[in-house]
Amino acid sequence: MAKSSPPRIAVLGAGPIGLEAALYARTLELPVTVYERGRVAEHVWRWGHVRLFSPFGMNSTSLGRAAIRADAPRHEFPADGDCVTGRDYVAAYLEPLARCGLLRDAVRTETQVLAVSRRGMLKEEAVGDSRRGQAPFRLLLRDVKKGTERSEEADIVLDCTGTYGQHRWLGDGGIPAAGELHAEAHICYGLDDVLGERKGHYANKVVAVVGGGFSAATTVCNLATLAQDHPETWVVWLTRGPNSQPLRRLPNDPLKERDRLAARANSLATRGDGVVEFHHHTLIDAVDFLGPDRGFRLHARVAGRERSWDVDRLIANVGYSPDTSLYRELQIHECYASLGPMGVAAALLKHAQADCLSIPATGPATLRNPEPNYFILGAKSFGRNSNFLLRVGFEQVRDVFTLITGQPELDLYRKR
Ligand SMILES: Cc1cc2nc3c(=O)[nH]c(=O)nc-3n(C[C@H](O)[C@H](O)[C@H](O)COP(=O)(O)OP(=O)(O)OC[C@H]3O[C@@H](n4cnc5c(N)ncnc54)[C@H](O)[C@@H]3O)c2cc1C
Repeated sequence: MAKSSPPRIAVLGAGPIGLEAALYARTLELPVTVYERGRVAEHVWRWGHVRLFSPFGMNSTSLGRAAIRADAPRHEFPADGDCVTGRDYVAAYLEPLARCGLLRDAVRTETQVLAVSRRGMLKEEAVGDSRRGQAPFRLLLRDVKKGTERSEEADIVLDCTGTYGQHRWLGDGGIPAAGELHAEAHICYGLDDVLGERKGHYANKVVAVVGGGFSAATTVCNLATLAQDHPETWVVWLTRGPNSQPLRRLPNDPLKERDRLAARANSLATRGDGVVEFHHHTLIDAVDFLGPDRGFRLHARVAGRERSWDVDRLIANVGYSPDTSLYRELQIHECYASLGPMGVAAALLKHAQADCLSIPATGPATLRNPEPNYFILGAKSFGRNSNFLLRVGFEQVRDVFTLITGQPELDLYRKR
């Protein structure tokens, strides 16, 4: 498929899927460079205190384990059934993988990809013309430590930059609430470690948590635990949805860790006698930032009626969105609803109501898009759809290399 032989592969992002893609390339003896703007697995680090709900056996591959063991035969992995924290996953698997003989020279940390183009070609040129695929990609890179910029070339780009680095907004309809842009630097949009390094920031404070998914549930449960030792801690939990129970539980959920979280969060929301005040059907209109020591005033409509709260801290667990600016000058066909690549997004429509465990990889053909040799893999390939699982990402890696090598039967996982 690619023109120069062997094709130079650039992997954007050293998360679990970027590392796996690089490993797959190196195993096939293809030249690969991984560009990572932070540390190895930067996003997983940031939510590292959270326990993964899928067991370790689903979050690692035979290829990855073999590569680690080739260097460190006595390396101990968690048991296949263990649900470890993000930090333990990085320590036991992702960091050793990035350090293994096959990858150690390939990973460039603290190297941010600012933008990608085609050498000598503009976005609107050579539409649907295979000549586009003959010109190499040009990557504009920033050395994060030095602040300097340079460019490098590649024949194939695997964009594995995830979504966790780009938060969504609090306001009604997904745009910023009035005042939110001004307050942004003071709002926490990720999963703060409220029981660990950020404890002092939240203990004995009134904390508003906005969002109705598993991230918000994790934060609320941890704040409730914090309140056991710091009884002045109070949580105002606001969700958009109409359900008086924030989390949907699956009958006989095979992911026990996930079910435990949902059950506890629902119980905290509905009990009424604890430290959590829960309001569903709530749309946020405005956020007034009152000053670093004075917190926020939140204005909302609860089932159509105006309400406001004064809170010390504001946590917005309202989801993440892919950074599409990286490929603004390329011909990427993205879904107008999910912002994922169109082929994958269209295939996922069939599974709109499904649980993430039952969503299969969508197949090699769905990974193609009009820009030849630019592939979006991993969490970013699902766009705003939060149903992505690592297991699917590993299958995407296998699928994309059938396209890159032109060998539809290639499957390095089957061999082992
Ligand atoms: C709290 C939480 C819990 C989760 N639990 C599970 C679970 O139990 N099981 C499961 O299967 N999935 C889980 N997921 C979903 C998903 O598997 C993870 O988000 C996973 O980390 C996605 O891997 P990834 O490699 O696609 O992207 P990421 O892990 O997000 O990695 C992307 C990498 O790209 C880097 N990057 C971003 N932009 C640039 C740039 N411009 N230049 C260079 N580098 C860049 C980032 O720093 C990051 O290291 C969870 C997600 C979250 C948020």
